[in-house]
Amino acid sequence: MVNEEKKRLGTNRSCIRDLFEYGMARAAEIGRENVFDFSIGNPSVPAPAGVNETIAALAGGDTQSLHRYTSAAGTPEAREAIAEDLNDRFACGARAQDLFLTCGAAPALTAVLSALCVEDAETLIFAPFFPEYTVFAAGAGMKSVIVPADTTDFQIHAETAARYLTEHTQAVIINSPNNPSGVVYSRESLTALAALLEEKSREYGHPIYLISDEPYRELVYDGAEVSFVPTLYRNSIVCYSYSKSLSLPGERLGYIYVPQQAEDAGALLAAIAGAARAQGHVCAPSLLQHMIARCAALRPDVEAYDRNRRALYDALTAYGYECVRPQGAFYMLIRSPRGNAKEFSDRAKAKDLLIVPCGDFGCPDHLRISTCVAWETVQRSLPVFKELIEER
Ligand code: PLP
Repeated sequence: MVNEEKKRLGTNRSCIRDLFEYGMARAAEIGRENVFDFSIGNPSVPAPAGVNETIAALAGGDTQSLHRYTSAAGTPEAREAIAEDLNDRFACGARAQDLFLTCGAAPALTAVLSALCVEDAETLIFAPFFPEYTVFAAGAGMKSVIVPADTTDFQIHAETAARYLTEHTQAVIINSPNNPSGVVYSRESLTALAALLEEKSREYGHPIYLISDEPYRELVYDGAEVSFVPTLYRNSIVCYSYSKSLSLPGERLGYIYVPQQAEDAGALLAAIAGAARAQGHVCAPSLLQHMIARCAALRPDVEAYDRNRRALYDALTAYGYECVRPQGAFYMLIRSPRGNAKEFSDRAKAKDLLIVPCGDFGCPDHLRISTCVAWETVQRSLPVFKELIEER
């Protein structure tokens, strides 16, 4: 016998993976250049040269010590380098011992949710959201409560969130810059959310932790400001990843930062370590920990993403697509011009244009375009976008 729910999760691919797999099969048939694959968020710019050089130098050095197990929370050098970088940028008083290194943001989120799961626990999630959140929450034993999207600006609104908080709310997950909208949450909206969570934590007699999922923190355009959430709300927990910021999604490195001022910070970190242990975490990849100890201050070159973003936004809105201008990440959302989003995605697919219907993201009328693609893909796809919206 197997666990039916796990079997279901392992059998039904996500809508993103479905299109991505289809795109690869189709590319083998008609040539990669003829498939306009905007399905998945695989970084299209290479890792910074400093990252690759450091990895090469490490692999050419004393590999005996390089490949050893590290402490579960990470090497002191890696944690110190990350803390120093956070302090340089956000003056947040981070210490090495406030950090727990993980194999990316996904296991960071599962460990934090599991650490916060008490009886009847709920986690609040703002639509549109990364679909795996609901899977992670269920896996941790938590109920997901979804706050519907404000499709006019895709910002979050405290007064709406207030209607969905209950005495069982243990955590609220936010993600800015956002996947799938590309929107960066404004300081005002985050400040209002922080005030609401302070008030409700007092009312319910326990802290409501704000989990800030930040894989796209460094990918911003137009000079947009990404607020560092722990400076706005004491009970924040940061889940970070180098998957997108250093273009290393297949290598697996990220961290959890629990600010020392968070309520029960010590117990929380212990519970996170315990939750990670129960999930089979041993340590983040040692090679990457050694790399980040030397490269924590490196930032990505976002110019190619920015160029794609501007070209797609300008052309698509000129053709008549409804879209909120993205200021971060490498995604944008369009409203389905006709029919539901799945039908529109199918029509696009028939023309080898792969865009993801956002039902699983909590936005059933919208489609996500991943703008991390080659410049030629953007240019060659534009006539297809135009044809689609003009079709009767
Ligand atoms: N959170 C969001 C919003 C994401 O978009 C992703 C990946 O696409 C993740 C978390 C997981 O990232 P990682 O590769 O670090 O596990």
